[in-house]
Amino acid sequence: VTGAERVSEDGAPPPVRALVVEDDTGIAQSLVRGLERAGYTAQSVATGSAALEVDPVPDIVLLDLGLPDMDGLEVCRLLRRHDDLAIIVVTARGEECDRVAALGQGADDYLVKPFGLAELLDRIRAVLNPTAPVSPPLRYGPLALDARTRTVTVADEEIALTPKEFDVLKCLVADPGRVVTREEILERAGDGHRYGSAAVLDVHMAGLRRKLNVPGMIETIPGQGFRLTAPN
Ligand code: CA
Repeated sequence: VTGAERVSEDGAPPPVRALVVEDDTGIAQSLVRGLERAGYTAQSVATGSAALEVDPVPDIVLLDLGLPDMDGLEVCRLLRRHDDLAIIVVTARGEECDRVAALGQGADDYLVKPFGLAELLDRIRAVLNPTAPVSPPLRYGPLALDARTRTVTVADEEIALTPKEFDVLKCLVADPGRVVTREEILERAGDGHRYGSAAVLDVHMAGLRRKLNVPGMIETIPGQGFRLTAPN
């Protein structure tokens, strides 16, 4: 049984068990909530030694490398003894050597803090089912968004977006022409604790508009939200 089948929404297969290893309680709680909303069975532990004792062994571990009791890389190496376990390590910005070392210790992928829930869920799906059929990029007018590679092009030119800008755009491209409310975007593109304010969303939206540079493509509907509109 592959990961993608197990997380499918028809409900029959057992849920994928996710373990969050994170000593920051606020981050851990919001990740567990987000994973549960996405259909996973999730729990968190705050130390490396607790992570090694979780029984039954989870299907996927989200492992913060900065732990209070053990070197995160050592935890990664010890977890790796389980063959069926997927590991995504989480590092702070700029710790490139840690990321390389973690991949050397058997991690399947890594995420750099801060990251959004949508990005995490994309990574988990990719790690659990690397041979999943590739879904084609979402296209709208000159815009193409590839959720698998997390790339965006406008008229075949790649646009460098921040992870948040990408997730916000993905919400709009997924349903072009419909007004997507601010609440929906915050729910789907936010991480639940760092990203709750409307003002922050406006900052991401302004960055997105500037980088896409297609006037009128993202319409603001006052009091409601945003809509992706095909430019003439
Ligand atoms: Ca930490």
